[in-house]
Amino acid sequence: MVLNLKNVFLNDGEKTSAQFEVELKPITLDGIYPFDSDASVCALAENKLGFVSLTLNVSFVYSRPCDRCGKALKRELEFSFDHRLVAGLSDSEDDDYIEVPDFELELDDLVVSDILLDLPGKYLCSEDCKGLCPDCGCNLNDTECSCRKGNIDPRLEILKQLID
Ligand SMILES: [Zn+2]
Ligand SMILES: [Zn+2]
Repeated sequence: MVLNLKNVFLNDGEKTSAQFEVELKPITLDGIYPFDSDASVCALAENKLGFVSLTLNVSFVYSRPCDRCGKALKRELEFSFDHRLVAGLSDSEDDDYIEVPDFELELDDLVVSDILLDLPGKYLCSEDCKGLCPDCGCNLNDTECSCRKGNIDPRLEILKQLID
């Protein structure tokens, strides 16, 4: 999607918006395809007192195993990204600005890079996910195994003392 921003840049108070999809499904991360849908994007560019801003509201379905227990987790994620746009090429090295020298802004790559930068670093089925038992590999959220220390049956404990 290319947004033509000439009117917005030249007229204070002017705005333009667009709704479109950006392809996410073919993207691989760490060997999996975590995007279960493409991104639905609503873009709004607005000139306020000569400053042009761009807001991208993005939603998509994200699917990745829990980092601790490996359970498959599918969630709808929503993000909102804000950018400042400048019409001319500026000499400053400021990365906070996106330059739009010919008033045409290509949004697809911008949306994808925004999403990749904002994906959750830690992805858990719940804040207190107990993870997997390091000994038998069972999911400790679902089952209580007897591998863990302090979990020994008291009767077995007596037996152990007798053997010692
Ligand atoms: Zn988990
Ligand atoms: Zn175990």
